Amino acid sequence: MNRQLVWFRDDLRAIDNPALYYASQESTSTIAVYIATPKQWQQHDDAPSKIDFWRRNLKCLQATLSELNISLHFFQVETYQQIPDLIASICQHWKIKKLHFNQQYAFNEQLRDQHVTDVCHKIGVQAHSYVDQLLLPPKSVRTKSGGAFKVFTPFAKQARQQMQDPLVMLPLPTAQHTIEITHFPEKLELDQISWPSVTKAIQLMWPAGEQSAEKSLISFCESTINGYQQNRDIPSIPGTSGLSPYLTSGVISVKQCWLATKVYNDGSDNFAVWQNELLWREFYRHILIDYPQISKHQPWKSQTENIRWRKNEAELVAWQQGLTGFPIIDAAMRQLLTCGWMHNRVRMLTAMFLSKHLMIDWRLGESWFMQHLIDGDIASNNGGWQWCASTGTDAVPYFRLFNPITQSQRFDPQGKFIRHYLAELSTLNDKEIHFPRKNRPQDYPAPIIDLAEARERVLAEFKALGNKKAIIKTR
Ligand SMILES: Cc1cc2nc3c(=O)[nH]c(=O)nc-3n(C[C@H](O)[C@H](O)[C@H](O)COP(=O)(O)OP(=O)(O)OC[C@H]3O[C@@H](n4cnc5c(N)ncnc54)[C@H](O)[C@@H]3O)c2cc1C
Repeated sequence: MNRQLVWFRDDLRAIDNPALYYASQESTSTIAVYIATPKQWQQHDDAPSKIDFWRRNLKCLQATLSELNISLHFFQVETYQQIPDLIASICQHWKIKKLHFNQQYAFNEQLRDQHVTDVCHKIGVQAHSYVDQLLLPPKSVRTKSGGAFKVFTPFAKQARQQMQDPLVMLPLPTAQHTIEITHFPEKLELDQISWPSVTKAIQLMWPAGEQSAEKSLISFCESTINGYQQNRDIPSIPGTSGLSPYLTSGVISVKQCWLATKVYNDGSDNFAVWQNELLWREFYRHILIDYPQISKHQPWKSQTENIRWRKNEAELVAWQQGLTGFPIIDAAMRQLLTCGWMHNRVRMLTAMFLSKHLMIDWRLGESWFMQHLIDGDIASNNGGWQWCASTGTDAVPYFRLFNPITQSQRFDPQGKFIRHYLAELSTLNDKEIHFPRKNRPQDYPAPIIDLAEARERVLAEFKALGNKKAIIKTR
């Protein structure tokens, strides 16, 4: 008996899944497990829409695996701390020789995996982890002096050079022999796990399964990509791939996406621009790996820890609920609440509005996004928030501050996006809709801040930071 155990986490697919594929190569007896951790999900701000997406994808995965005679079993514990002991007892109970899992890079996940590996070694079970979420292995994209890149553009240039070797996509695992496994009291059915409930509308927007993900990828590469360069910034147009929930939960691999850009490439700039977005994802993952403080609520630029963020509960709630009196901001925040997703252009605007105009701590926005995004991902979310708050890797200094009115006029000229989410403004004309003044409906709030004053306030705070840094240094 040479039994292999595959532990699924955020890699909910059968194709191009290194842990699953290599386990099936080692023997003909492979078993799979998924361990739910509801309390940990809560501590990590995982959104109900994302957790429900996991549930729906696990159902699809279970069906796919069963056709390969690989049974997927479910367990539940409160937090990561209980996982090492559980895995050890699963391995002993089912006489497992080797455990296989794909790497995750946030601090708690790394710690958990180290503990699991240690426990396995103690009981004589081998544990092997694989690079799955990345196009290039951790710490392999380096500057000439061997350090980590701190800025996106040179990172992307170097990454492209290193990716000239052909990427290889792994096929479905080979079918296994049926295994009779003994009863395990803690084992649950998928529906016995404490899943949160979400609206039917969100479930319909994001259908589960590898086939749905692949369909979206193909339809994007065959058609939507043609206008990507122009349309990707227009929030009223479905001009992007919509693949982020699938990538975050590993229903599709980043390699599958990158290879599609090779297969479908018509030589237009659109494919190169889309590849760049995949490289932004890659960049933030490498940043997460090289700077573990990112996982611990610390800013990437340590001196920005001295910023005196404002504490204003009323303004925070107005931002969260889409009631700031700035239509593009409010429409975006309501898109997040109704769809569990937000367009990239308005993610930037809303993040800058909170962290710069309202000068409220970016970490509060980061966790609100995580609590609601179906694609919530610590690396990209933290990277995006810190970029917008000028505490992170943005190469432009702190004075980059998008004006929500001029951005609205530029990227939603006819107010289509605003009208879609703010029915109360639907009768305003294309000019007024960006900043309603004399015709503002009674049920729409007045602006909660003066943009010019807010701009001065935040620029002064960042400017003073330079002086504070000097003071700290001279002490
Ligand atoms: C404040 C803020 C928070 C964000 N939080 C997340 C998050 O939690 N999860 C997440 O996946 N993305 C996040 N992003 C990045 C981006 O907004 C989404 O990836 C994108 O909107 C997803 O839509 P799409 O799949 O249609 O993108 P496409 O334009 O089709 O891009 C393809 C893929 O590239 C990646 N990508 C695109 N843009 C970025 C980017 N700026 N940074 C990192 N990866 C990118 C995503 O995986 C995306 O699915 C955030 C951006 C900002 C500014």
